Amino acid sequence: MKSPPTSSEKKPADEGLRCPECEYNLTGLDRDVCPECGEGFDRKRLLAVAPSPVPIWGWRREIGSPKAFVLTLLEIWVHPIRFGRRFPRTPILRDARVFSRWCLGISILIAMVAFLPRNVASLNDVLDTLSTIIGVCTGVLFCEFLIAGTVFLPFTGNIEEHLAFQNSLALVRMTRAFLLLSTLCISIGVSGEMYFRSDWSTQLIAVFGTCAVVGYWWLCMVLIAKAHCRDGISIVAAALMIPVLTAISCVAGTFTAFAILGSFGGLPY
Ligand SMILES: [Zn+2]
Repeated sequence: MKSPPTSSEKKPADEGLRCPECEYNLTGLDRDVCPECGEGFDRKRLLAVAPSPVPIWGWRREIGSPKAFVLTLLEIWVHPIRFGRRFPRTPILRDARVFSRWCLGISILIAMVAFLPRNVASLNDVLDTLSTIIGVCTGVLFCEFLIAGTVFLPFTGNIEEHLAFQNSLALVRMTRAFLLLSTLCISIGVSGEMYFRSDWSTQLIAVFGTCAVVGYWWLCMVLIAKAHCRDGISIVAAALMIPVLTAISCVAGTFTAFAILGSFGGLPY
């Protein structure tokens, strides 16, 4: 997809113009007054600094959220370089926030469906699964902040530092699409293991599958960082930093999971 779909011909394409007061979409208005909150606005000044919609997901009002969500997922999974290159320097932060919530919510749903049925034997098992999910979420959030603050931060340019961090965090949040991909793969592996009993070959496939997904995520993150921050970090530095930051986040996530279990008096294993 190279341009917004033709179904948006009736409405003008989203200019990324938002009311500074209430974030209402001001595209295509005749008068320079926000219809939502009644605040006046300076169109020229707003357009000069207007954040742009995130590719595909930003057009969800025109093509519908479910379709936009699936197309954005496919774009990130299959065309990471193109996604990184097209991602705006000043994105609409809300777009990325909502997309990442969808990814996290659907991932948690899939994980619950895949893991809970065989773990409802006792309350301790349910607690075990829930604390694992909370631990993974903590690790993911921690990892996103670390990667956004280092690998994805543009090193040149004159944007204020906290704005640059917000923009890079928005891009990193979009890559939560890979959390959904890995949850899908691991859950399919777990369900397969349940059907075929825990035979060594299915376990081997599960281990190799997980490694393949994590490796693919690593590769895509490096490619997206390089494609987006052209003048930023080198491919080698990004490739080396991501595993280190991920390891730190895993420790933080594991610590959280154990702390929750410990506070309920249960022990992990
Ligand atoms: Zn307004």
